[in-house]
Amino acid sequence: MSLSQLARSVSESPTLKLNETAALLREKGEPVIHLGGGEPKSKAPVDAIVSCASLLATGDVKYTPADGIPALKKAIIRYTEEHYGRLAAAENVIASSGAKQAIMVLLHAILDPKEEVIFPVPFWVSYPEMIKLAGGVPVPVAARDGGFQPSVEEIAEAVGSYTKAIILNSPNNPSGVVYSEEFVAGVVELCEKRSLYLIMDDTYNRLIFDGRAPTNCYRFSKVHNLDSSKLVVVNCVSKMYAMTGFRIGWAIGNKELIRAMANIQSQETSGPAAPSQWAAVGALNGVQSSIESLRLTLENNRNVMVNRLSAMEGVKVTKPGGTFYCFPDFSAYEKDSQKLSRLLLEKVRVVTVPGREFGMEGHLRLSYCGAMREVIEGIERIRWALDPSAPNEMFLGDRKLVRDWL
Ligand code: PMP
Repeated sequence: MSLSQLARSVSESPTLKLNETAALLREKGEPVIHLGGGEPKSKAPVDAIVSCASLLATGDVKYTPADGIPALKKAIIRYTEEHYGRLAAAENVIASSGAKQAIMVLLHAILDPKEEVIFPVPFWVSYPEMIKLAGGVPVPVAARDGGFQPSVEEIAEAVGSYTKAIILNSPNNPSGVVYSEEFVAGVVELCEKRSLYLIMDDTYNRLIFDGRAPTNCYRFSKVHNLDSSKLVVVNCVSKMYAMTGFRIGWAIGNKELIRAMANIQSQETSGPAAPSQWAAVGALNGVQSSIESLRLTLENNRNVMVNRLSAMEGVKVTKPGGTFYCFPDFSAYEKDSQKLSRLLLEKVRVVTVPGREFGMEGHLRLSYCGAMREVIEGIERIRWALDPSAPNEMFLGDRKLVRDWL
């Protein structure tokens, strides 16, 4: 079989693959605890469903403009004004099939072959592969202190003549860390000085804890006219409204860029699915209480996960400030995160994502977007699997496990 170099260079999304593995094991009746998930378990808001169903009831489901229906753009403009204090025009907005597609068409619109995109380590698994798909070169930047946020200087050191863009994702998947305002301000300034695109992936922007307010990157920008700005803000309904399956995301940027992205999208996929766009209109314009209730649930789950992990000797936990992920360091138990993740799945049926996928060995990404019971049981099983001082036997349902691997 002959496949392109590109196809051979891009790997499968490890997180989507883990979802499949978990589903297959569950089908076989295995008592799987899924701490590898990337979506809230709550339902989509009623306003989203009603709006989507009204379109479906007409039976008149047709193509939409490539960059989104006017009603969705309007809702996004209102959202942007309310949460970012920026008044965007319809030409500054593109709606895509998820934040993923918005980022993908954005990369296609800005990258020439071999141009580089910088992003901090740890990073969302898809950035390197998406950059490669668009012909670019991923440049991950790790903090020298081993932490989850490099310094502005470290980012600046990575900027060279091929650098085209920087991506920041805060709160961050996988670490849950909310980058400091100084860091975001510094990167905004760096990008404006060096004329680089800054892609702010605000997918988890509203899912933030401890009374903090979401960071608004525009506050640090000296360029007040959106059309002269290379700052691009990406958002989606996927996580904040628990609407991952609807596949609606968007980007706000300068008109020239958005037009280029819309052209690419029009050739690649056309506009996002009409029922999904109407669902997003319903969510954005409807009652907003579901975001706060999700946020509170996640904060509570986070507390439980962090407390339990902290009780495990040797595990280093950084308290996540947002998202629904935690990224503890298990290297005291096992340095090879893939080996550790495999062991936990095989022995105690807990799905985790190896840190290596996010550019950081020795860590595991654990999600707390599931039920509290799953969080507690999942950490309990991990503890049993790794802690030599735990009793030697444990029951998974009616199956007795004997720990013989330590
Ligand atoms: N950015 C980040 C950081 C994400 O974690 C995800 C989803 N896992 C996305 C973008 C993509 O979101 P969507 O499902 O809307 O494509």
